Amino acid sequence: MLQFLRGMPKIELHAHLNGSLNIGSIRELAAKVYGVQTKEFSALCERFIKFEKGAKLDECFEKFGLMHELTATKEGLESATELVIRDFAKDNVIYVELRTTPKSNENMSRRSYLDTVLGVIRKTSDLYNIKVKLLPSINRAEPVDVAEETVALAVELSAIEPDIIVGIDFSGNPNQGKFKDFMPVLNKARNHGLKLAMHCAEVDNPLEIREMLRFGMSRCGHGTYLSASGFEYMKEENIPIECCLTSNVKSGTVANIGVHHLKQLMEADAPKVLCTDDSGVFDTTLTDEFFLATESFGLTRSQCIALTMEAVEHAFATREEKLMLKMQIYSYTRRQNK
Ligand SMILES: [Zn+2]
Repeated sequence: MLQFLRGMPKIELHAHLNGSLNIGSIRELAAKVYGVQTKEFSALCERFIKFEKGAKLDECFEKFGLMHELTATKEGLESATELVIRDFAKDNVIYVELRTTPKSNENMSRRSYLDTVLGVIRKTSDLYNIKVKLLPSINRAEPVDVAEETVALAVELSAIEPDIIVGIDFSGNPNQGKFKDFMPVLNKARNHGLKLAMHCAEVDNPLEIREMLRFGMSRCGHGTYLSASGFEYMKEENIPIECCLTSNVKSGTVANIGVHHLKQLMEADAPKVLCTDDSGVFDTTLTDEFFLATESFGLTRSQCIALTMEAVEHAFATREEKLMLKMQIYSYTRRQNK
């Protein structure tokens, strides 16, 4: 099964750029950014020791801090983006939607942050034979005017790169910021044709969950605390839940894999996709997530293919792109059945 899943062409719809580099690639990035013979690199290598498999949750989250340091310059961000794309391609991911919050610091404005990521996507998609889209993220813990700048940039750049910038991600600490405050700016993005992928129901906040469902979205990130009627609504509206098994279990929003809502979604035949969230932070790959689903819920090979085809349907891709992706998956299945 594992071998079948490794070779299976996969679709990744929920991946944060800064969380998607595995520790080996972070080391590679640090070597590029600092140079191997520097004391900065030696200091980083010492910090890497604690990120071995089995690291505690707050140690896992420290990787975000590390990535933010390493991507604080244009060169660092360029290398990180390329390594992330390379790592997904290595796992036979043929289509990925990357999310990232444009940051401004002394080296970069939010515009140059997005320009840099876009430049790498343009350059590397063919090189690694993978289709890459970009969803600029709104971090709900930041002020609304930052979100306004991000959406204005996304709207402007999507007119230039309509094949790459296809939507907006709404994410960040779910205990910070009020969803209501972001509704006007999210509406603006939607009115300009950008799709909305929103982290929703990550924590038990029924009022906000209701507001978000009423507002609507194209895809729902996690959906851990949706009620039975919430799931019903998602099914009626054909809104898929982006299920990130390892991320949910490791970050403790789901008690254990056995009670993950993927099971309910499958039983209810409700829309769902399997994603990694932060493959580097949580030491996983999309292959690992599929394997975990087969081990935990008895998914068969054909159910894994069906889940992948479902992901194609919910991707923010054009009809032609979806057709190409489906053909690739179909031809893999045919080869396997010979
Ligand atoms: Zn996420």
